[in-house]
Amino acid sequence: MSENNDNNDEYEKICYMCRRTESTTGKMIQMAKNMYICPDCMQRTFDLMNSGDMGAMPPIDFTKGGFNMDNLGFPDFLKNGAAEIPKSQQLKKKKPVEQTNKENGPDVDPAVLDYKKLPPPHKIKEQLDEYVIGQNRAKKIISVAVYNHYKRVTKDAAGDIEIGKSNMLMIGPTGCGKTYLVQTLARLLNVPLAITDATSLTEAGYIGDDVESVLSKLLKAADNDVERAENGIVFIDEIDKIAKKKNTTNRDVSGESVQQGLLKILEGANVEVPVGSTSKNAMVPMTTINTKNILFICGGAFPDIEDIIKKRLMKATLIGFNSDLKDKFDNDPELLDKVTNEDLREFGFIPEFIGRLPVIYALHGLDTDMLVKIMKEPKNAILKQYQKLLALDEVDLQFDEDALVTIAEKALEKKTGARGLRSIIEDFMLDIMYEIPKDSNIGRVFITRDYIEGKGGPRIEMRN
Ligand code: ADP
Repeated sequence: MSENNDNNDEYEKICYMCRRTESTTGKMIQMAKNMYICPDCMQRTFDLMNSGDMGAMPPIDFTKGGFNMDNLGFPDFLKNGAAEIPKSQQLKKKKPVEQTNKENGPDVDPAVLDYKKLPPPHKIKEQLDEYVIGQNRAKKIISVAVYNHYKRVTKDAAGDIEIGKSNMLMIGPTGCGKTYLVQTLARLLNVPLAITDATSLTEAGYIGDDVESVLSKLLKAADNDVERAENGIVFIDEIDKIAKKKNTTNRDVSGESVQQGLLKILEGANVEVPVGSTSKNAMVPMTTINTKNILFICGGAFPDIEDIIKKRLMKATLIGFNSDLKDKFDNDPELLDKVTNEDLREFGFIPEFIGRLPVIYALHGLDTDMLVKIMKEPKNAILKQYQKLLALDEVDLQFDEDALVTIAEKALEKKTGARGLRSIIEDFMLDIMYEIPKDSNIGRVFITRDYIEGKGGPRIEMRN
């Protein structure tokens, strides 16, 4: 089989008994094809043998030669390589550190990313603009934060002054582009990305994924390359769902304790992580991931936080609950941008948790105009995709502007932001994709408003 780590220098050897990697345990002893034992486990085996407590193990016949599989009494299936470790659980070896910068002391990170090659913030934003519509303030903040984050990661930045982490908290309604923004960013920067849902996380010991599972996902996204994972991005969605519940007398397992659990990894710690699995068990190899340079981005819709902000702002004006003021705040489209740590505490987050997410910003709900732009402007816009598909049949697909406005209005009714667009478009495009290839004389199709509203058909032009 080619999927093994025999003679493969790229992957770590893993101890068959304790499942640790060679970089942790020291040089391994090969017992059989793809089967290695670390010095500690070997020692423990010797100790056991010396104490005569080998249980059901057959006695070792040393007359057969050295210390090898044949005289250890292991069953045949182990000797023949059945102990092979699946590819998903194999770890890439760390690259040797080329040079250590003596001036900066011993614990300097090797430069994995060269920040001089990193695009400056305005270039990052320009690239984001090609995909993400609107959300200008968020794109600007994220570009600067990411640039600073990766500058901090590089060797040049090490020294007396430690640059703080730029973990982020994004607030914005469903379907406004939070996940999409992070996905686009990770792709542009070519760093691994893991997306997880805060509601699936539980405190260690409860049923569900414990917080370390997000790092397993990141490791998987980095193709089991620990070094790449250590410079990756983790996006934790629905973070608002782990706010402390108010008015409960019971112990709050899902909220505050998960926040507590996340504190350590957000800040930077060495975390033992199972490889190729999100749960720890005796059969899964483990590795250590340092989270110091991982960028954590949390996102959530935070329903009702606007009320908390309004209340605080009204209090601050000292005039009290003046109705003019209330109107002013009710109609303020930038209200979410005014969110503070105090509001988040009121919402149910512990101060330590908010403290580890220093970059806080809001994304705005999408209006009809933006939804229309999302359909047609991004590099991979959904309308462009359909146009390309039909162009392969030499049919020119066009959309009337008022048809797009109607689609946007229908999507707004669904209250799922831009997510609603795709299903609406797919619905009517199905018939188009089915009918048009029937007649090779059709040269151009216009999607009209009447067609979207079910009152008529598309306008069709024949080839001449
Ligand atoms: P959420 O804010 O709930 O994480 P998503 O980022 O998952 O929303 O958005 C769902 C989909 O809608 C994305 O995959 C993307 O195609 C589209 N979308 C949402 N917002 C935007 C935007 N501002 N610009 C371009 N596409 C967007």
